[in-house]
Amino acid sequence: MFRALLVDKTDDAGYHCKLTELDEAQLPASGDVTVRVAWSTINYKDGLAITGKAPVVRSFPLVPGIDLAGTVTESAHPRWKPGDRVLLNGFGVGESHWGGLAQMARVKGDWLVALPEGLSEREAMAIGTAGYTAMLCVMALQRHWETAGVAPGSGEVLVTGAGGGVGGVAIALLAAMGHQVVASTGRPDEGDYLQGLGAREVMDRSALSAPGKPLQKERWIGVVDSVGSHTLANACASTRYGGAVAACGLAQGMDFPSSVAPFILRGVTLYGIDSVMAPLARREAAWQRLATDLDRSRLNAMTKELGLAEALAAAPAILAGRVRGRLVVNVNA
Ligand code: NDP
Repeated sequence: MFRALLVDKTDDAGYHCKLTELDEAQLPASGDVTVRVAWSTINYKDGLAITGKAPVVRSFPLVPGIDLAGTVTESAHPRWKPGDRVLLNGFGVGESHWGGLAQMARVKGDWLVALPEGLSEREAMAIGTAGYTAMLCVMALQRHWETAGVAPGSGEVLVTGAGGGVGGVAIALLAAMGHQVVASTGRPDEGDYLQGLGAREVMDRSALSAPGKPLQKERWIGVVDSVGSHTLANACASTRYGGAVAACGLAQGMDFPSSVAPFILRGVTLYGIDSVMAPLARREAAWQRLATDLDRSRLNAMTKELGLAEALAAAPAILAGRVRGRLVVNVNA
């Protein structure tokens, strides 16, 4: 038997998630690798899966948790053997396939990434999908800047949703590369925290969240946006000539009320960042870089540790934007 969170629907179409005990025989037969999970996380999407606030869960009953890190106990997959230390995020795990908020998981070996040298399971999950997505954003901007000949420190880089998980890791990574990071937040009282992660300046998100002009004063050489909607539109409108915006999130909204002006008049490039189906080579590159480039003291500063039962209570909080940084879940606590 093992402990797990389980999402299910009741006969009267009600939706619930509870902490329960499951039998290993109940693990999905479709997987070819069994993992003893050590750590998982709570991301924004896990908040949606646990509360049912948006239909991210595609089959019932389902163990939520889009991230996991642990040790292989059984494998019918050629790449993996018992004892291998692995991590997993995306590929519909925690949405249509049983996920990581449990002590055991059975998954497809094709989805697993070897835990990079020098990264513990806890650190990998403190980073989680949010941090890995931040790295995908940073890698897209870096490729752009290298092609355009833009040097770190030659201009300001905007990070929106700065108080959240993607935002926190993006700030720490960009600051370590020598960039002048401006953090946009709705929590100005978290200014010391954001500067501790490496932000040079903290701005109130209200300056970006209302409808704005199609072209605004040029300010950013690059943007990491986890917020979408008017914030993304204003970020594009104030990006400097030839700059780039990496869009990965929708915390303000899924809409994009923009115009083509920044793209056709200033040559701004908008990169769409998807973490879920990113190819294995890009995942491995992102995780390797996280293992070497992310300052551990900054990661610790943005991480709060929870047990499985506390993870349930954290789900509404992350949807309400009340979680600072990252939540890592010790599934054995
Ligand atoms: P968090 O909840 O940790 O952070 C989101 C942050 O956005 C909040 O902390 C808050 O920051 C800000 N925010 C919340 N509501 C609003 C609002 N109404 N208007 C403006 N800002 C708001 O989530 P994550 O960092 O884990 O994820 C961020 C987004 O990225 C989510 O939308 C998520 O779904 C998406 N995502 C996408 C991925 C992909 O593959 N493309 C992968 C991972 C995440 P503050 O208080 O500082 O303003």
